[in-house]
Amino acid sequence: MHVKPKKGLGQNFLFDKNIQRKLVASYNLKACDHVLEIGAGYGELTKLIADCAAFVYALEIDPELCKTLRDNTKGYSNIEIINQDILRFNLKRYFRGFKNKIKVVGNIPYYITTPIIEHLLKYRDKIETIFITVQKEFAKRIVANPGSKEYGSFSCFVQYYCIPKILFYIKKSSFSPIPKVDSSLLEIKPRQVPAVKVKDEKLFFKVIRASFNKRRKTLRNSLDSIVPLQKLHEFFKKYDIDVNIRPEDLTLKDFAHLTNII
Ligand code: SAM
Repeated sequence: MHVKPKKGLGQNFLFDKNIQRKLVASYNLKACDHVLEIGAGYGELTKLIADCAAFVYALEIDPELCKTLRDNTKGYSNIEIINQDILRFNLKRYFRGFKNKIKVVGNIPYYITTPIIEHLLKYRDKIETIFITVQKEFAKRIVANPGSKEYGSFSCFVQYYCIPKILFYIKKSSFSPIPKVDSSLLEIKPRQVPAVKVKDEKLFFKVIRASFNKRRKTLRNSLDSIVPLQKLHEFFKKYDIDVNIRPEDLTLKDFAHLTNII
């Protein structure tokens, strides 16, 4: 039985069997894997995942859909349906006592892509890999390199904690109802230690956010309210950086050097 899709919950379902199989093959699942699926919908992916993994925790916010999901996954003893909001789901508490890290997967609702990634990264020490389908343009921003127009504070945030990679693109016509945008499967692998050494993470991200807030300006102008000019000049001189550099040309290492000087 199908329920009327709720646009407000990002309900664009993937019924294309080939893409479903391609996604699950890319998750590279092992028989011992415990998998958290975000936004299980009708359970099409859930069942394919359950065929390859030890256990699937299928999270779905919509209680109406959960009923259908339960019916559709009847007979699977390794699927647990959890009617909850991912943004309120405490992975640390739920998976306490688990020796191995979990995999997190899902065709996530796009309206909360950023909060979902931020939420998951709070629990990064519990997570082996994240495989999520996101809006194509968003995926490009996450993996973007310095110097590109897509590079911004969220690229820095994700790349500081993780190694992100675009695995493949998915046409919007694979989903129903058809969304406005194409998608990408994104792999996000949490690092053992962050990409660069910073003394004060909070300040590091404050500097990055402030830098990109006014990305058309030079770094000097973007940061004039939070970094004393003398410190900025010390940074330019010590690391041989052009005083007119723009924020999008700074690497994570440069931002770390700058923060550590302040
Ligand atoms: N996995 C299904 C598929 O591939 O067809 C559904 C994908 S659909 C893009 C996103 C799913 O996430 C919907 O079923 C929606 O109800 C659910 N969802 C939306 N917001 C959620 C939230 N905050 N927490 C958990 N699930 C959510």
